[in-house]
Amino acid sequence: MKPTPLTEAPTDAAARKKIKPVVCYPTDTLPRPDLAAYRALRDDLELVETVIVPPRDAATWEVPAGHFCRIVCSEGAQVGDLNLFNLNDLNEKFYSGKTRALNGTHVGLGDQLFSNFPYLRPIATITHDTLDWYGFDEFGGSVHDVIGTRCDPYTNNLLTHGGQYHHCCHSNLTRAFARKTGKPIHEAETYIHDVLNVFMCTGFTRDTGQYFMKASPVRPGDYLEFFAEIDLLGCMSACPGGDCSSEHSSDTAACYPMVVEIYKAQRLPRGWAPPSVNDYDCSHGLEVA
Ligand SMILES: [Zn+2]
Repeated sequence: MKPTPLTEAPTDAAARKKIKPVVCYPTDTLPRPDLAAYRALRDDLELVETVIVPPRDAATWEVPAGHFCRIVCSEGAQVGDLNLFNLNDLNEKFYSGKTRALNGTHVGLGDQLFSNFPYLRPIATITHDTLDWYGFDEFGGSVHDVIGTRCDPYTNNLLTHGGQYHHCCHSNLTRAFARKTGKPIHEAETYIHDVLNVFMCTGFTRDTGQYFMKASPVRPGDYLEFFAEIDLLGCMSACPGGDCSSEHSSDTAACYPMVVEIYKAQRLPRGWAPPSVNDYDCSHGLEVA
């Protein structure tokens, strides 16, 4: 519980609160992808690889630039915690916070996933989402959030006063990334970043602004598909929370494997070129002698 305010409201409190919000980042100046050009390739895709993500564990895969990747719900409602890296430079990775600032709390069809500073460029474009009908529900919930960070053993330890649980998404991602890259586990851990919560249904409570989750509406056969703007290394955990209807960081929820499919397109989207890294000069105004 948060404490009640100690400060008396000023006389113009109501007027101050009535000021209308403005959207932080006007997206009319944000370069938008030509979605039709991407989607025109979808009728002729060749499945080149299938990867199974075991429940309460994670797996990695590669998606060459210009290929499509589908994250598929296979056997039952299950949430996936996704990390993306530049396959050729693992320091460039998905930046959930800026993706959220630019696209909103949940991503879907036509949204682009951005990488961290100093690269800040789109690394993936969402080209299909079979849950796009969901929109926002009466609680303010929606799917595929870029709000939540990933379940992790440290928060679990805090909240359970000493718990040691090893199959949180953070640990699953860390193990899978270490296996793929050969990096020692503690070094691998530093590469794991805030996720895209694939299929997870979340929002903020209207009264207290608390992060909430509810049973994912995903069903077997549903998928989220994206186009790789650069060569990508994907790493995803099938969350121990299963459909995230009640809890995570435990072995009590029903969990299912997830399937990742990589598709080769017969050609590249009309007018497409791989996005270059950000043009900012990185001097931060400091004159270099
Ligand atoms: Zn999780």
